[in-house]
Amino acid sequence: MTKKRIALIAHDNKKRELVEWVKYNESSMLKSVVYATGTTGRMLEQEVGISVTCLQSGPLGGDQQIGALIAEGNVDILIFFWDPLEPLPHDPDIKALLRLAVVWNIPIACNRATADFLFSSPLLFSDYKRKLPDFYAYNTRKIE
Ligand code: PGA
Repeated sequence: MTKKRIALIAHDNKKRELVEWVKYNESSMLKSVVYATGTTGRMLEQEVGISVTCLQSGPLGGDQQIGALIAEGNVDILIFFWDPLEPLPHDPDIKALLRLAVVWNIPIACNRATADFLFSSPLLFSDYKRKLPDFYAYNTRKIE
């Protein structure tokens, strides 16, 4: 079975919660390939001790890098603890990332309860093949 590729992001007010959640799920993380935005990833490496491929910090392009990984088929699960109570400068990037995750049919958890459900699923370490959208009609549409 191929390792699941998991992308992790938490906004500043949610980072503590994500660190705790990752600690709780450390054994699953050790069986996976983990990507994260810069600050989130560094915290996870230092405080949990797991190995993380750290991208740019979110506001500096990290969210978009994770979006690109999704579009290229390199992410299986997105855990994104975004902050519902704080306006953020990179709001368009956040929206774009969530949009791409839906476009490519990636399981997304935006809070701890959903993340718990995802990580207790028997599908987590199965050879689950998510149904990929067929964009043939879109890609070959005629532009008048
Ligand atoms: P960070 O980015 O992990 O670098 O803080 C997260 C974000 O704000 O999108």
